[in-house]
Amino acid sequence: MELYQLTAYQLHEMLRRKEVTSREVTGSVLKRIAQVEDRVHAYITRTPDLAMEQAALADRRLQKGNAGPLTGIPLAIKDLICTRGVRTTCGSHILENFIPTYDATVIEKLKDAGAVLVGKANMDEFAMGSSTENSFFGPTRNPWDLERIPGGSSGGSAAAVAADECIASLGSDTGGSIRQPASCCGVVGIKPTYGRVSRYGLVAFASSLDQIGPFSKDVRDAALLLQAICGHDNRDSTAADVPCPDFTKALIDNIRGMVLGIPRECFREGLDPEVESAIREAIRTLEKLGAKTVEVSLPHSEYALAVYYLIAPAEASSNLARYDGVKYGFRAKGNFDLMEMYQETRSPGFGAEVKRRIMLGTYALSAGYYEAYYRKAAQVRTLVRQDFEKTFNQCDVLLMPTSPTPAFKLGEKVDDPLQMYLSDIFTIPCNLAGLPGLSLPCGFNKQGLPIGLQILADHFQEEKLLRAAYAYEQNSEYHLRKPAL
Ligand code: GLN
Repeated sequence: MELYQLTAYQLHEMLRRKEVTSREVTGSVLKRIAQVEDRVHAYITRTPDLAMEQAALADRRLQKGNAGPLTGIPLAIKDLICTRGVRTTCGSHILENFIPTYDATVIEKLKDAGAVLVGKANMDEFAMGSSTENSFFGPTRNPWDLERIPGGSSGGSAAAVAADECIASLGSDTGGSIRQPASCCGVVGIKPTYGRVSRYGLVAFASSLDQIGPFSKDVRDAALLLQAICGHDNRDSTAADVPCPDFTKALIDNIRGMVLGIPRECFREGLDPEVESAIREAIRTLEKLGAKTVEVSLPHSEYALAVYYLIAPAEASSNLARYDGVKYGFRAKGNFDLMEMYQETRSPGFGAEVKRRIMLGTYALSAGYYEAYYRKAAQVRTLVRQDFEKTFNQCDVLLMPTSPTPAFKLGEKVDDPLQMYLSDIFTIPCNLAGLPGLSLPCGFNKQGLPIGLQILADHFQEEKLLRAAYAYEQNSEYHLRKPAL
């Protein structure tokens, strides 16, 4: 077993007992990156020198005995989370050379915890997409099948974990961008409750939906990473002032008495039969372990995709107005007046999908259309949320597929945005309602592609997600498989 194959928890035990140093662990991960990165392309920017410096610092802390669970652990960070002195591109030409002058709150917290940054992970431009093909820097490939997409938009963060090019990573989830790539790459991903994790220093896509969360090789590591990044923050007015429990206490391998809600709307046409049978099998496993199941209904979830594609582009069109060639990154050269300069900068600066979203959003917000589109969408969003409120009176968590299909082929959906949007049909309702959600491996199809089980809970009930996920994981082996790279 190589060091890069281990989990953060396993490595922490070894570091603590002084069986290895963080420099050795980090060296092992950097070696792995050198071996496979030209095939996977999980990173936009690699930071080997910084990583070795941070590893040396971590080793000093470990020597002194004041180390935490992430001290000395090599991590990858999605490239829309600001890192001071390390460029943060958002997968976009327009921010190709943007070097933040400050750290996001989550980065400050990880630095305080002594974690090691090995690189900035690839992503769909401004987190818009489900395949990482919208990256200005070229796509990431799925470690399980290099002809397939890793999911998106946090495809680099998911693929880096699956390919052992980092021990764990951070991504962001606006409509499924942590859970869907976790499912496609056979790793664990958590989208925390809206407000659980500070968004300060997260480049905004759709501010009422965005949330940062962890990717990891197992549920325990996801809990450790979530613990490290969560909490109130004065610099983000939406970061909720609620206490963060000790998430590892939820890892008890006992699901007896928990009530699992199964939304009947999820098992319909469009769901891949092998995904359906893997999900049903996972439900049976949990029933055998002592959980009860009830059928529930989320009648308004059929409108969630339409609602999302009004609200998210509307917020994006406003958030992305700041990239005008003046304040950040790329600016077209030439003798232009102001309007021309904006146009000449923004036209080549953004890719096709980002421009599509800006246009959709600007249209939805324009005078005369606002009531018909944006306001209507906001009203239906409330109905989606109320459906969840009702179901959580009947059950502790909801179980459903993360994605309707396993990873699809590169290029398969690039010319069909609607098909691409449908990849998130099961993940989007959770964001509209602000709920926490988790995806973990629950099987493989005949071609050897991973399948993800999605678990949702009520606001700030991440412990329930973790308890159900951990109980399942302790009684399955899918998370232990590795792609043959
Ligand atoms: N795939 C969805 C989109 O394109 C969700 C993206 C995300 O969660 N960032 O908007």
